Amino acid sequence: MGLSRSFFLALSRSRNLRTLMTKWRFARKAARRFVAGETADEAIAVAQALAGRGIMAILDHLGENVSTPAEATAATDAYIALIDAIAAQGTWTSVDGGPPHLAVKLTQLGLDLSNAVAEANLARIAARARPLRIVVAVDMESTAYVDRTLAVLQAVHAEFDNVSAVVQSYLRRNDDDLKALCEAGFTIRLVKGAYQEPAELAYPDKADVDAAYVRQARHMLQSWRGHAVYAQFGTQDPRMIEAARQAAAQENVPPQAFEFQMLHGVRRDLQEKLASEGLRVRVYVPYGREWYPYFMRRLAERPANVWFILKATLRA
Ligand SMILES: Cc1cc2nc3c(=O)[nH]c(=O)nc-3n(C[C@H](O)[C@H](O)[C@H](O)COP(=O)(O)OP(=O)(O)OC[C@H]3O[C@@H](n4cnc5c(N)ncnc54)[C@H](O)[C@@H]3O)c2cc1C
Repeated sequence: MGLSRSFFLALSRSRNLRTLMTKWRFARKAARRFVAGETADEAIAVAQALAGRGIMAILDHLGENVSTPAEATAATDAYIALIDAIAAQGTWTSVDGGPPHLAVKLTQLGLDLSNAVAEANLARIAARARPLRIVVAVDMESTAYVDRTLAVLQAVHAEFDNVSAVVQSYLRRNDDDLKALCEAGFTIRLVKGAYQEPAELAYPDKADVDAAYVRQARHMLQSWRGHAVYAQFGTQDPRMIEAARQAAAQENVPPQAFEFQMLHGVRRDLQEKLASEGLRVRVYVPYGREWYPYFMRRLAERPANVWFILKATLRA
């Protein structure tokens, strides 16, 4: 197939195409399928609409791989402003889960500069978020960053337990990483993994990724009893969702101890179905101007969407 996963993942790293696409009105309009808008207010409005449907939100101020301390500080400031804007709303108690969570990427907070810069910025965000019961989820990026991300997370978690982790089941190493995070009592989002990785590091075969996902989902649920692990299943795959539900029932884990997370713009029907069945559902809502790599990773996950989005954007 011409429009393959690796084709879009290669494009997602192209700086030239990124510059071109972000200036192009048509592309901006197309990206809106997955992105709530450019401002925090637009993202908060989406979170409020979700709350009205009994669904929680996690807000992501888009951006990654900054190269100067000033950019890292600006990204951190944007999150602080977002927390303040969430707090100013004060209407989140209508949903069981409280105010929206935040998703951050450490390369947006300066991980390419040093661990120390990213750690200080993450701690600043976590400190502001904690009194408001806002969890700060650290998204997991490509394998170049996994060790450093885990090191920063462990350091910040020792002081702020409102930071949470992500495990990508496509990585061969991840049974070990998951075990360590569970033992430390982290809240963990389990995803399949969205980056292009070599076969030595990540399973090339989808069946192996799925098997790892199911195994790791059960391990997280089993860790609820001993370590109070709160499991978050980040997937649109009905088979993974069913496997997690079955494992929760078999392990006697109550529905308040785990949640399903899906992306804004994907499978809204499934989000509503799960919520109507009494399960906790949280939607990942990205916003901001740095949508290009995020958008391309979404196309990579489902190249068939390209035609769908092209048609919808032309019609709009
Ligand atoms: C909330 C959330 C947070 C994430 N955070 C990270 C992260 O921090 N790091 C990271 O590397 N990755 C992250 N991801 C992306 C993740 O790694 C996968 O790339 C992505 O979720 C696609 O995998 P999948 O489990 O949904 O199913 P896939 O294996 O892609 O697809 C399996 C089946 O799921 C259904 N499906 C999947 N996608 C769609 C769609 N777009 N529309 C309709 N049906 C669909 C279809 O039935 C499909 O056959 C995140 C994903 C989610 C949902």
